[in-house]
Amino acid sequence: MSDPTAYLNGAWVPLAEARVPVLDRGFIFGDGVYEVIPVYAGTPLRLREHLTRLQTSLDAIRIANPHPAADWEALLHDLVDRHPWPDQYVYLQVTRGVAKRDHAFPKDAVPTVFMMSSPLATPPREEIERGVAAVTATDYRWGRCDIKSIALLGNVLLRQVAVDAGAMETVMFRDGLLTEGAASNIFAVTGDLLLAPPKSHLILPGITYDLVLELAAASGLPHRVREVTERETLTASELWLTSSTKEVLAITTLNGRPVGTGKPGPVYRRMHALYQEFKAASVAAGRARPPPVGAHA
Ligand code: PMP
Repeated sequence: MSDPTAYLNGAWVPLAEARVPVLDRGFIFGDGVYEVIPVYAGTPLRLREHLTRLQTSLDAIRIANPHPAADWEALLHDLVDRHPWPDQYVYLQVTRGVAKRDHAFPKDAVPTVFMMSSPLATPPREEIERGVAAVTATDYRWGRCDIKSIALLGNVLLRQVAVDAGAMETVMFRDGLLTEGAASNIFAVTGDLLLAPPKSHLILPGITYDLVLELAAASGLPHRVREVTERETLTASELWLTSSTKEVLAITTLNGRPVGTGKPGPVYRRMHALYQEFKAASVAAGRARPPPVGAHA
């Protein structure tokens, strides 16, 4: 494969050659937001929801959205069409732009827009069938984890806690309550009841989180959105992590101890099947739709 191509401020450039000035506020302050959108066989999953969350993040940090949704969509398809991988994930980022270093918003900076695509490998069979390991940690991140900020130092350090322990994810608690993973949302099952922590400023409103709750509702799977205590999490019969790239995975080892039976549970297997069905239906519907009119084609 030749070099991946990236989109940067209106131009298509080889990813390895894409450059932003050092005074970009993304570099200086982490002053920007991002999205990660999975694309299966050319069809983005839940694109509208991702673009809505992007708008919410931009509004929260007071950056005007540089593109209407139709232009984002055209850019995304253009980007994906430039790469041969069957499944891809698109990373897009908007920062407040380049300005003299000063915390206060600059008066007339132009937002920096960057997009790249990478091959998306869905979780291997082994992870689906055996589950994955996680550790726990105190969630010491800031108070606006609902904003999909590029300033991810807390998430980076907390994810490394898992990596250092040979695990995949860090499950976090704040004041004795489950928040989320370092880069995922976390669900718990007690008995046959699926529990999800409520949306708040303390967790990212995951697109997969919403989808899992929708699938649970549509299939009559007992579920509740409510605070989940640390104790409930540590004694749950099943734990799952969800994200756009990891889909739904069972956490079968927590802090080196088995979760429930130590194997992915029956509620997980049901949800995994529902998720795969949803994905297949989305791809089929995407194939049937005409390609979007390319604002930037
Ligand atoms: N929480 C955090 C902190 C994340 O980084 C992610 C993945 N971006 C998620 C939750 C899951 O969100 P989504 O389902 O939209 O990928």
